[in-house]
Amino acid sequence: MEIEWHRIFFNDHPYSFFLEILIRTPLMFLAVVLVLRLSGKRGVQQLSIFEMVMIITLGSSAGDAMFYEDVGVAHALAVLTIVVILYRVIVIAVARSEKVEDALEGEPIYLLREGKMCLNEIGGDYLGADEFFGVLRTQHIEHLGQLRYVILEDTGELSVYFYSESEVKPGLPILPDDFNKKKKEIEIAGLYACAHCGNVEHLYAGISEIACRACKKTEWVLTIDRVRIT
Ligand SMILES: [Zn+2]
Repeated sequence: MEIEWHRIFFNDHPYSFFLEILIRTPLMFLAVVLVLRLSGKRGVQQLSIFEMVMIITLGSSAGDAMFYEDVGVAHALAVLTIVVILYRVIVIAVARSEKVEDALEGEPIYLLREGKMCLNEIGGDYLGADEFFGVLRTQHIEHLGQLRYVILEDTGELSVYFYSESEVKPGLPILPDDFNKKKKEIEIAGLYACAHCGNVEHLYAGISEIACRACKKTEWVLTIDRVRIT
């Protein structure tokens, strides 16, 4: 098989097509800037789902018109206009109705209450423990007993509420060295945290395969109760 280098790079367009790109690209670029200004959004940090959809739609239609010869610039501009009008309409609908807001942007979810994961509210394993603990570690959290609440906001950000120093309880260690010592056989009696949900129970020495009262899993980690140093 012969590799068609010329077609890969130029798709058999005449070289004058570069001139066309030179006209199309600034047009669409300016149009997207204008449309984003008209959308009323001040920045693109923390996009909700439907804002993300708007950005993807804008990018896709603007990008196509930059270099597909069979996509007319006027048609792409029409798409941008319709998208921004839709966006404005949805913003108004979201402001007026909480139901619309929850449907489009999602609602905040409690991931953790009083040192324990809210597995019922989370509903399945949509956020892996590895990822969740990783985010907590970026906030210098050593174990779940330091935490009163963790809430997943509709922007995807985690809001973390701490216990005061005197309120910190024994909790599930989340530093990899400690967490990876999870085990099913308990050799030393003590306060253990369920490696799956953070539920803390007193376990006796010499037992194994004890099911967590909260989630029925059987892996445990010896708790720690250090306060958070910031
Ligand atoms: Zn558990």
